[in-house]
Amino acid sequence: MTTTVPGLDALLPSLRALYRDLHAHPELSLQETRTAGVVAGRLRAQSGWEVTEAVGGTGVVGVLRNGEGPTVLLRADMDGLPVLEATGLPYASKARGTDRDGNDVPVMHACGHDMHVTCLLGVTALLAADRGGWRGTVVAVFQPAEETGEGARNMLADGFAERFPAPDVCLGQHVGPFPAGVAVTRPGPVMAASDSYRVRLFGRGGHGSTPESTVDPVVLAAAVVLRLQTVVAREVGASQAAVVTVGSLHAGTKENIIPDEAELKLNIRSVDPVVRERVLAAVRRIVRAEAEASGAPEEPEFTSLGSFPVTVNTADATATTLTGLRRVLGEEAVLVLPQPINGSEDFGLFGTALGAPSVFWHFGGVDPAAFAGLDAETLAARGLPAEVAVNHSPRYAPLQDPTIELGVRALLGAARTWLADGADGADGMG
Ligand SMILES: [Zn+2]
Ligand SMILES: [Zn+2]
Repeated sequence: MTTTVPGLDALLPSLRALYRDLHAHPELSLQETRTAGVVAGRLRAQSGWEVTEAVGGTGVVGVLRNGEGPTVLLRADMDGLPVLEATGLPYASKARGTDRDGNDVPVMHACGHDMHVTCLLGVTALLAADRGGWRGTVVAVFQPAEETGEGARNMLADGFAERFPAPDVCLGQHVGPFPAGVAVTRPGPVMAASDSYRVRLFGRGGHGSTPESTVDPVVLAAAVVLRLQTVVAREVGASQAAVVTVGSLHAGTKENIIPDEAELKLNIRSVDPVVRERVLAAVRRIVRAEAEASGAPEEPEFTSLGSFPVTVNTADATATTLTGLRRVLGEEAVLVLPQPINGSEDFGLFGTALGAPSVFWHFGGVDPAAFAGLDAETLAARGLPAEVAVNHSPRYAPLQDPTIELGVRALLGAARTWLADGADGADGMG
């Protein structure tokens, strides 16, 4: 803590209550109606925001015009995940939802998007209350469906560029499994591209006692899963980053029935466009060739389940933003990563579509004691300590305190670095 933020202490109890409420009421992607209502209500209660709802579905945009100066877009995502919460928190989610295939599923804020909404609403409140301290325009974007890679696209396709002021910079942040108090980012590629597919493998079913009369898709699927492990090991250079994960594998109903087909769900991450093309081509080639090797009666069927571009931080805008983050979090608390994080984001679509530089960073939400005695090199080589739950885990829960406060400070500090100083001359952050 290097600077005081006027009004933040008084605001924190209300932000904690908001966070617990959002955490207890997560909603699946494209279904964020309650969350959007809470967001719009809070924004309207803060003076000066022009609030537009139902942007690209359940998106909410607030615009605060406060005199001549730069326009800064701040973005938070709102969706939860189909995960059964196992945090044991008093405000743990018991919510259920219906996914797009009609399944009844548990719902949890397992990626911390409730934290992002809370922090952005804290920043909007502080900016609205301190309009003498800064000049410019702030566009606060509450985005649906980040997890499926649809939300930013939907908002942009809903006339975002024509309906809202053009930003001079787009800023976004994500809470993650880093020590609370730490923020990390890098210029250039900061998060990976992600491509997901459903693959149907066709066989010919029959009785488990007569495999000679069938084409067994279970054996075919097993061969595909193993062979796909060679893509990164054998076709990607040692200094290049890529991941191929088979996260779902389904076939059959009973031990003595050979089923007609098997289904895989794949997720592929990459940072370099050339590597991305090479990996995607290798995956298709292997799936097709294994089907042929099995004598499959039909070509495998690929369906895209979503695609995220590489998230790229504009270099000079990152340098400017780092100055703001360091001012509010402390010099030593802001780390420049040697390489991108392998998660993916659709945040970058705003900057790309709106022709503005963009900067995205991660901030920690884990008790620093969990990292005691571990330096960055050890963590990079060995991964996180087992007791640290990562995003998407049923046990993922950022510490409420001090994460809310730090997330507000980081986002406000970054925004204020871009906005002009106010007429009263005091920038309030200093
Ligand atoms: Zn996520
Ligand atoms: Zn997320």
